[in-house]
Amino acid sequence: MSPVRVRFAPSPTGELHVGNARTALFNWLFARGRGGTLILRIEDTDAVRSSPGHEAALIEDLAWLGLGWDEGLGEGGEAGPYRQSERLPTYRRRAEELMEAGLAYPCFCSLELLEQERTAQRDAGRASLYSGRCRRLPRDEARRRMQAEPAAIRFDITGAARGEPLVVFEDRVHGTVRFPVAQIGDFVLLRRDGWPSYNFAVVVDDVAMRITDVIRGDDHLSNTPRQILVYRALGAPTLPAFAHLPLILGQGGAPLSKREGATSVGWFRTQGYPPEALLNYLALLGWSPASGQELLTPEELIQAFDLARASRAPAHFDLDKLDALAARHMARLPAGRLADLAVQALAGAGFVAPGPPGAVSDWVGRLAMLFADRLPKMADLPGQAALLFDFSAARTLSDPGIDAELRQPRARSVVEALARRLGDEPLTAPRFQAIADEVRRELGVKGRDLFHPIRIALTGAASGPELVKLLPIIEEGSRLPLARPVAGCAVRARELLRAISGTGA
Ligand code: GLU
Repeated sequence: MSPVRVRFAPSPTGELHVGNARTALFNWLFARGRGGTLILRIEDTDAVRSSPGHEAALIEDLAWLGLGWDEGLGEGGEAGPYRQSERLPTYRRRAEELMEAGLAYPCFCSLELLEQERTAQRDAGRASLYSGRCRRLPRDEARRRMQAEPAAIRFDITGAARGEPLVVFEDRVHGTVRFPVAQIGDFVLLRRDGWPSYNFAVVVDDVAMRITDVIRGDDHLSNTPRQILVYRALGAPTLPAFAHLPLILGQGGAPLSKREGATSVGWFRTQGYPPEALLNYLALLGWSPASGQELLTPEELIQAFDLARASRAPAHFDLDKLDALAARHMARLPAGRLADLAVQALAGAGFVAPGPPGAVSDWVGRLAMLFADRLPKMADLPGQAALLFDFSAARTLSDPGIDAELRQPRARSVVEALARRLGDEPLTAPRFQAIADEVRRELGVKGRDLFHPIRIALTGAASGPELVKLLPIIEEGSRLPLARPVAGCAVRARELLRAISGTGA
């Protein structure tokens, strides 16, 4: 068997959509799992919509996802260039070969004429297929006219199909696909301006790049019969194996659209999702591992990936499910990476200075760890960590529930007993436990009656990370040089008591 060669062939006409990222991922997993080669080819034949900016963003997104390629744009290789806009002479040469072989012909029909034909076909309730007018021109006449008039080059479907009524092929996901030749018109291979059509360019390139497996979205399933006829006409010795992945649907059941917001990889990147979480989730859209395990690292995905387990059923993109998975990945990030990402997020919010000293970034990393298992994306961290940086007794008491609870004598005496014991000595976890024990003995309160007043008094929130972990982090923060200083626990408890007394209960 020839070594695996797969390609990811995006068109740089917009942002990298999650559907295309999933295609890139499946090709990557397939290549990596089989010691194959992944090629990146840029399909920029839509000169109006393609732009170098989109190409650069696409490459940045792929790099962020960790999806590297072995050949193609930026990597080089024998079959280059790898941008279709730089391959126009190749398409022309191959189209001329097909004309020589009698499998393609020049077409002189004007756009107006073609439009009139299409309208007439539509009005008659028929599919709009090219009438074949120029196919019937005598060869000599066609050649003569080509010298003088601009011409497109069309594919002679009847000739290419060699009288067979159906194009039949095996798809790894869809099984046997049968497509009537009669539904395929003589499509354009090369337009008058010399640019190729998608169905032609893709095959010329897949043949030249010796692609063994074509893995792409379902939207290309109906293009495949056309492409198979081109393969045959070009004399390709073998066809690649095809796999068409199911559509990705949004919450409402319609194809995932931009209106639903989170559809581009760039969005997930700027929100600070761990890239391995998005990869993990994308892998589960239309595929599942035999083990049923959901949380998978990129290495585990490579091990487990098997195209035979790809599903035909449309996949549903569920942001809540992604978030749940992402928080699990966040909690498993190596400490250094978590700290770097968290510093970026907190610097963006003005809580810490960018590029802080080591002691600050270590502390930020430990702080992020406290929230990690509820933190799908770093963009959520400033909001969650605000209870450290934005303490205000007045704001705490502006919550009617918290205010009422702290004014109850028992809760208030807990906070008073705590405040009396908080001094200059750093509040480490053992010290907090010892103080809580003393307060419990002094007042005879325990459990929720003891800890809840402490939580709401010091953090202003009714829930959050475990106090025994959170309070020492607050204390440490109060001793660090931060852009937004953190008030220590003693200061918090005293300010709160003062606020309660000040407003009179
Ligand atoms: N450029 C095509 C797209 O972005 C890819 C076609 C293919 O993979 O054959 O949809």
